[in-house]
Amino acid sequence: MDVDLTKEQIEARREFRKFVDETIVPYAEKIDREQVMPRELMEKIVARGYWAPELSKEYGGIGMDWLTFGILTEEIGRACSNVRNLLGVQGMVSHSLLRFGTKAQRETWLPKIAAGEIVAAFGLTEPQKGSDARNITTEAKHEGNHYTITGSKKWISFGQNADLVLVFAQCDGKGSAFLLEKDTPGLTVKPLNNLLGYRGSMVGELIFDGCRVPEENLVGMVGAGISYVAAHGLIHGRYSTAWGCVGLAQGCLEHCLAYTGTREQFGVLIKEHQSIQNMIADMLTGVTAGRQICYRAAYLQENKDPNAMMEISLAKYFTSEMAMKAAGNAVQIHAANGCSPGYPVQRYFRDAKVAEIVEGSSQIQQGIIARYAYKLHQHSQFTS
Ligand SMILES: Cc1cc2nc3c(=O)[nH]c(=O)nc-3n(C[C@H](O)[C@H](O)[C@H](O)COP(=O)(O)OP(=O)(O)OC[C@H]3O[C@@H](n4cnc5c(N)ncnc54)[C@H](O)[C@@H]3O)c2cc1C
Repeated sequence: MDVDLTKEQIEARREFRKFVDETIVPYAEKIDREQVMPRELMEKIVARGYWAPELSKEYGGIGMDWLTFGILTEEIGRACSNVRNLLGVQGMVSHSLLRFGTKAQRETWLPKIAAGEIVAAFGLTEPQKGSDARNITTEAKHEGNHYTITGSKKWISFGQNADLVLVFAQCDGKGSAFLLEKDTPGLTVKPLNNLLGYRGSMVGELIFDGCRVPEENLVGMVGAGISYVAAHGLIHGRYSTAWGCVGLAQGCLEHCLAYTGTREQFGVLIKEHQSIQNMIADMLTGVTAGRQICYRAAYLQENKDPNAMMEISLAKYFTSEMAMKAAGNAVQIHAANGCSPGYPVQRYFRDAKVAEIVEGSSQIQQGIIARYAYKLHQHSQFTS
């Protein structure tokens, strides 16, 4: 029972669940196995209006509220972390543009992203700089009416098929953001396949060898790239990942409830064994707590609360660790079958591990959350 939802939101969850079961679930294993995101699935999501529903109508969305959007993300995450990640990344780029892009950038790119006409990627991480994003080394030189970008990005989701990349680079030693189109001369894309998880996220390495981008492709001011543009995109990414992890754990729980009702050992269904029940109990408890934390993050985000950013970090940290634990237990319950292809719990397990790393690892989130705790303490805000 979802006590915090309106009638409309409860109905929306039902619709999302039906769509996901009928449309995304049938693709999830194939996407993981073949490491490709099928175009026809993307088109089905766009056609249903679930591609970028949180964007305003002006830019091709439907202005969906943050909680309903979260529920949609949860339902997609229950089926497939790759589709969830695809939509998450589109959101990271579009929300960065929405907040910091020029009018021309918003009008040119947002409707195309919202319509699924182009795929966007978020290019922050480099081979030697991950968590320490402020010290990236990709360089952008201002030369006449363009910037010349040199350097590389690694582990970029949908880097393989992106039409547009939001690239972060140092310009005169200041972190800055640029829009780079796929046909830009000097850009080389190398696929990074066979990763542990997110295998259908078409992760790529991007090498920029003197890529020229027009001056008008600078997003925000020079120097605003990391602290503002990237930080804003990452909030959206963490929000998506947090909800997706609730869905992933819910998926684990549902597969375990079904499996334990069919598998017998020692003359009884394994659901009769106390230790199996303990793991089921931990999963339901984790999912319930994670969903509540996400509801809270949604409420704060909807109300533009100044603490929303920290609470989204808290949600991402909690739910990704919770999902990892749930997925570990799900494999344990399925045992050898859980280690075998054809049983989705091993995919959930691999994807859950990645969720603890991307968009700021658990350790980075812990740093943010600890600073938040001291802030709340200093301002006596613990009762709010
Ligand atoms: C499948 C996949 C998809 C990805 N997609 C994208 C994408 O679309 N765009 C993008 O830009 N990046 C992407 N990434 C990269 C991801 O964001 C980074 O992996 C992540 O930020 C961590 O960086 P790192 O791997 O370099 O680890 P490092 O930063 O090298 O960290 C190594 C370890 O040290 C810990 N650590 C680092 N600094 C601290 C600190 N200050 N305090 C405590 N512990 C610390 C980390 O938690 C980690 O355990 C993706 C990665 C994967 C695996």
